[in-house]
Amino acid sequence: MDRITTSGLHMPKLGLGTWPMSGSGCTDAVLRALAIGYRHIDTAQMYGNEAEIGAALAQTDVKRADIHVTTKVSREFLAPDAMRRVAEESLRKLRLDYVDLYLIHWPAAGMDVQRAMESLMRLQAGGLAKHIGVSNFPVALMRRCIEEARAPIVCNQVEYHVMLDQTKVLAYARAHGIAVTAYCPLARGNLGEVEALARIARKHGATPAQIALKWLLDQDGVAAIPKASRAANQQENWDAQKIVLDGEDRAAIAALPKSRRIVNPAAGPKWDEAA
Ligand code: NAP
Repeated sequence: MDRITTSGLHMPKLGLGTWPMSGSGCTDAVLRALAIGYRHIDTAQMYGNEAEIGAALAQTDVKRADIHVTTKVSREFLAPDAMRRVAEESLRKLRLDYVDLYLIHWPAAGMDVQRAMESLMRLQAGGLAKHIGVSNFPVALMRRCIEEARAPIVCNQVEYHVMLDQTKVLAYARAHGIAVTAYCPLARGNLGEVEALARIARKHGATPAQIALKWLLDQDGVAAIPKASRAANQQENWDAQKIVLDGEDRAAIAALPKSRRIVNPAAGPKWDEAA
């Protein structure tokens, strides 16, 4: 399994997304994924399923040190004391002493970047998070984290798939040793009707979802966290790692329209800013 190694982070490129899994179905799905070989689990305070993931982590035979766990703090809790309280609560639910990666889930409008980064850095210094990072941060905000706050962020988790351009975020992240984790890597499972993907899939005896996933996993510094509750989908996504795309495949995917943003809440950041 390929990993991203940067600034001490050693994160498997393929992870399991868990939103909106809940209840025992979530615990079972995480256990199934661990049995297949997944070693990277993505959750968040906001998903309300950390306890169910904690139950899976408590049951599995896989060693803690071999599993990468990411969770995220909601933007209402960016002050140091609030973030500490929320992080401790996440750890209690996950039944862990530390998470591998702790992210700010969404930037808050007019947020005090310096203070939020200090909150993250305190958690890291206290051993609650091995690594810290952000999610849904456009380049201008990443720049403030790195250049103003001097925070050692190692990851930005953003929507990224074959139908969405992320050139600017990727360029800044790569230049600063920051991993990019692609969420909605399968565009929520709606890729079957994209003719170019279907054609490439036929050529490789694969599915359009597998092609879309492998296109992401092939990129430097990019991880992907497809959510799959169904065993067959988890296995299919795992098997995508074996596909070998060629230049013709990559050119066809590059030519797809790239403006389909699926997750774009009114309170979200402005993505069309000049970088
Ligand atoms: P996604 O992973 O692109 O799509 C998930 C959907 O695709 C599910 O309906 C799943 O079905 C289906 N699927 C999985 N594998 C498939 C396959 N091989 N073929 C066909 N369909 C397949 O979208 P997402 O769940 O929105 O994103 C993934 C993860 O990213 C989330 O679970 C979450 O952990 C994270 N996320 C983060 C943010 C953020 O703001 N940071 C935002 C959104 C998501 P089944 O479940 O039925 O198998």
